[in-house]
Amino acid sequence: MPKSVAIIGGGASGLLCAIFCAKAGLHVTIFEQNNKCAKKILVSGNGRCNITNKHLTANDFFSDNPDFVSYALAQFGFEEFQKFTNSIGLLLNVLDDGRAYPLSNEAKSVAKIYEEYAKSLGVIFETDTKVNDIKPLLNKYNNVVVATGSRAASHLGGNADGEMFAQAFGHSIIPAYPSLVQLHLNSKIAHKMSGAKLNAEVTLLINHKNEMSINGDVLFTNYGVSGFAILDISQAASIALQNYQAVDISINLLPHFSAQKLSTHIMQVSKNMPEFTLLDILVGLVPLKIANGVLEYLKLSNAVRTIDTKLSKKIANTMLNWRFEVNETHGFRHAEVSGGGIDTREINPKTMESLKQKNLYFVGECLDVVGRRGGFNFAFAWASGYLAAKDIAKV
Ligand SMILES: Cc1cc2nc3c(=O)[nH]c(=O)nc-3n(C[C@H](O)[C@H](O)[C@H](O)COP(=O)(O)OP(=O)(O)OC[C@H]3O[C@@H](n4cnc5c(N)ncnc54)[C@H](O)[C@@H]3O)c2cc1C
Repeated sequence: MPKSVAIIGGGASGLLCAIFCAKAGLHVTIFEQNNKCAKKILVSGNGRCNITNKHLTANDFFSDNPDFVSYALAQFGFEEFQKFTNSIGLLLNVLDDGRAYPLSNEAKSVAKIYEEYAKSLGVIFETDTKVNDIKPLLNKYNNVVVATGSRAASHLGGNADGEMFAQAFGHSIIPAYPSLVQLHLNSKIAHKMSGAKLNAEVTLLINHKNEMSINGDVLFTNYGVSGFAILDISQAASIALQNYQAVDISINLLPHFSAQKLSTHIMQVSKNMPEFTLLDILVGLVPLKIANGVLEYLKLSNAVRTIDTKLSKKIANTMLNWRFEVNETHGFRHAEVSGGGIDTREINPKTMESLKQKNLYFVGECLDVVGRRGGFNFAFAWASGYLAAKDIAKV
C-alpha cells in the first residue's frame, strides 16, 4: 500500500507539497476550509502573482532563527522551481530586478495549473472542510502536513490554526505581527489627504533613529498611508510597534530636490508669477490635497502671496522631511503576510518535520518565516512544501 498523506490547507505550500507527494505515488488528500483552494494565490501580486524571485537569499527573510531558510532555498530555489514550472507548462516572466510572474501575467494560471495537475495525479480535494484537530488525522494517515498559512487576510482563509495545532504537540510560538501592511498615522492632516498619491522617499524612524529609507509609491488614506514604499518598511515598523517602541515616518515629497533647490524654486516662481498664491506654487510640485496639507500643517493661508527666503526655506524643509507618528498597523486582515509563528528551532530545516512529533510536518507561512515583498513569501511556501514532500516520499 502506498503511504497516505493528509495535507491541511490547499494554499501555496499545501498544493505544491501535494503535487510532489502524489508524483511520488503517495495517496494524498488536501483538506481545505474554503470552498476552493488557492485563494491567496488568486489575489496575489494584484492578480498577477509575483510567484518567486530569481535572487533568493536568507537575507530576504525575517525569523527568530534566520538560518532556517537556507537549506530550503538551496534545495528548491529559483532554478529548481523554474524547472518544475517549465515541466508543467507554466512559464515564467522574470523581470530585471529578479521578480518572477507567470508569463500569462495572471495569477489564475498558477492556481488552475497546480489544481489540474494535482487532480491528474490523483490528489483528493476535500474543500469546505475545516480541520479542528489533527490528532485523529495522525492516526488515520501515515503523514500529516500542516499548511494552514498565517493570520494575514482572514477573508481569504487566514487564521492561527497552524499555531494551535503545533501548540497541541508542545511547540513554542513566536508572537505574530502583521507585515507588508498599511500604517495608521496619528495626524488629522494626513487623513484629509486621503486619495493623494505620489512617488516619495519614506524614512522609518524607530525611537527617533533612522532605520531605513525606501523610494516608492505612497498613497494617503483616511487612516494613514499605503503604497509599496509603506509596505516595504512595514515589517520593521510592525515589530517596533509590537515592542512598544516609538515609530515615526518622515516623508520626502520631492526626493529629487535639495532643500536649497526647492526653496530657490519656490522663490523664483513667486517672483515670476506675482499673481500666484502659495497654493498655486505648491500644486506645480505635488497633488492638490498634499499642497493643502502642507499649508495647513504650517498654519499658512493658501492665499499667501508674499514669500520671503525664511518662509520658502520653512516650506522646503517640511516638504522634504515631513514627520508623522505611526500609531498602529492596519492589522492582520489587511496584511499580505504575518511575521512570527511556529518557532522553527523545533522544526527540522531539512525536512520540515516536527522535532516534537514524528510524521507531522509544518510548511509555509504558519512557520516563523516571513519574506520581504518581491515573491519571497511564495518562494518559501514552494521550498518548504517541496522539502516536506521529499522527506515523506523519500525521493
Ligand atoms: C493580497 C495578498 C497578495 C499577496 N501577494 C504575494 C505575491 O505577489 N508574492 C508572494 O510571494 N506572496 C504574496 N502574498 C503572500 C502569499 O500569498 C503567502 O505567503 C502564501 O500564500 C503562503 O502560503 P501558505 O501555503 O503558507 O498559506 P496559504 O496560501 O494562506 O494557504 C493556507 C490554506 O489553509 C487553509 N486553512 C487554514 N486553516 C485551515 C483548517 N483548519 N482546515 C482546513 N484548511 C485550513 C486556508 O483556507 C488556506 O487556503 C500575498 C498575500 C496576500 C494576502
